[in-house]
Amino acid sequence: MCGALTEKSTETSSKNVDTARVDPAFKREVMNEHDGETLKKCFQCGTCTSSCPTARFSDCYRPRTVLRMAQLGLRNKVLSSSALWLCTACFTCTDRCPQGVEVASVLRVLRNLAVKKGVVPQVFIELNSSINDTGYAYRIPDIRHRKRAEAGLPPLPKANCKDVSKLLELTCKGKIPKK
Ligand code: SF4
Ligand code: SF4
Repeated sequence: MCGALTEKSTETSSKNVDTARVDPAFKREVMNEHDGETLKKCFQCGTCTSSCPTARFSDCYRPRTVLRMAQLGLRNKVLSSSALWLCTACFTCTDRCPQGVEVASVLRVLRNLAVKKGVVPQVFIELNSSINDTGYAYRIPDIRHRKRAEAGLPPLPKANCKDVSKLLELTCKGKIPKK
């Protein structure tokens, strides 16, 4: 799931970085975004990784490593990794970082850059499409509506899909590909 973004990856060590794949502009691009500027304060203590609930259940997702790769300018490696999408945005890392790095926000910046590059896991394309069409993250099948009615439950509220669509257009700026 995480591709090559592992804590043991040799590319987290600057002496082993393949310079041909380094893009010095990448770090600046991240730091130009809101909260992205805190990336420079990371001194690689690992508190974020040791606090991260996702890392606890994964043998490859390590926020510390993702941030180090971003610092090193490994644009393609970071943006094409599915690891970015494993962050649940719980902000535990941000709360615990001794350097005041907005870890979760930096990860959000990286995901936004990945979207601009056209890298979005299929599941998020599906979610986006469902929210756009129905107002619900999950397309509720007809049988569920029928079962609700049979059980005497009221119908589920209908979303204002026009407003939802407008909101998605404004926030995603059409960057998430349609299904
Ligand atoms: S806790 Fe903060 S300083 Fe430590 S590795 Fe994570 S982001 Fe860097
Ligand atoms: S915000 Fe993301 S990276 Fe940070 S602790 Fe939560 S799941 Fe881990």
